[in-house]
Amino acid sequence: MTETKIKTRINRGYRYIPFITLSELKPRVWITLSGCNFKCKGCFSIARDTVGEPMTVEQLISLIKNSASEYYEDTPLEEAVITGGEPTLNKHYLVDLVSQLKKFVGWIVLDTNGHLLDDAYLKELIEAGLAEVMFDLKVWDEKLHEWYTGHSNKRILANIRNAYGKIKLVVNTVYIPGIADDREIEQIAKFLAEIDDKGEIDYRINRFRAELSYEKISRNPSPEEIEHAYSIVAKYMKNSVIGKSCVRERKIGVKRGWITVFPDGTLKGRTLDDYREENKRRIRKRNAAVI
Ligand code: SF4
Repeated sequence: MTETKIKTRINRGYRYIPFITLSELKPRVWITLSGCNFKCKGCFSIARDTVGEPMTVEQLISLIKNSASEYYEDTPLEEAVITGGEPTLNKHYLVDLVSQLKKFVGWIVLDTNGHLLDDAYLKELIEAGLAEVMFDLKVWDEKLHEWYTGHSNKRILANIRNAYGKIKLVVNTVYIPGIADDREIEQIAKFLAEIDDKGEIDYRINRFRAELSYEKISRNPSPEEIEHAYSIVAKYMKNSVIGKSCVRERKIGVKRGWITVFPDGTLKGRTLDDYREENKRRIRKRNAAVI
């Protein structure tokens, strides 16, 4: 299907869904809305491209309800994380999705690059029942941000500033050696500390995964590099953490796994190792297509 046909379909009330994911640890669902307005060079999400099946909000809600009740039985969903790709591409769809989820989910989180999330959009989402926003702030330097994503970060910074005090806020940065490293992360931490005098924003540093990146732009950071960035952030912010995908938490040795639910309702258990293998296969296929 062409880009134009996909956009028309999205505007007509559909989003393309490759899968949703149920947690094995607690009643929580990740809802992946594919397609993105950014072209991050270091992206490692399968959902950057428009992939999966077109689904209306009603179809998606029924997939979530049916699979959650099959897997968790009578236990209600505690949390839903709406992610992508980029979930904000169709405002009407996202607001409707949040308000439908609010009827049966305790806590609703939006994971976004933040570019489109202006005051009016955020207000509608909060009224619909959104409880938390996770902004991905790639880098501080505007020119570097344009090179990395294809867009300026001015609107994202303004949208984070606007969201402060209105909703629970988490900001994520992926540590990419030579690109998003100490200098960039320190500037971001200063910016967040300046708008957050109460220490309410959580700032999370995640680890770059070179083997999954769309373009070969850097290498994997060492644990020491991440720890060093963390120590810089801690000078400015009370609530900085190293992301779950990072080395510190992996030392705990918990074998992580998820249940993937496909648009046709099929459930499949997958571990972190399965995801890695699937991602590698996807990248090999994509590289072969480019050649
Ligand atoms: S915003 Fe997220 S999904 Fe979109 S290209 Fe960037 S990293 Fe990938």
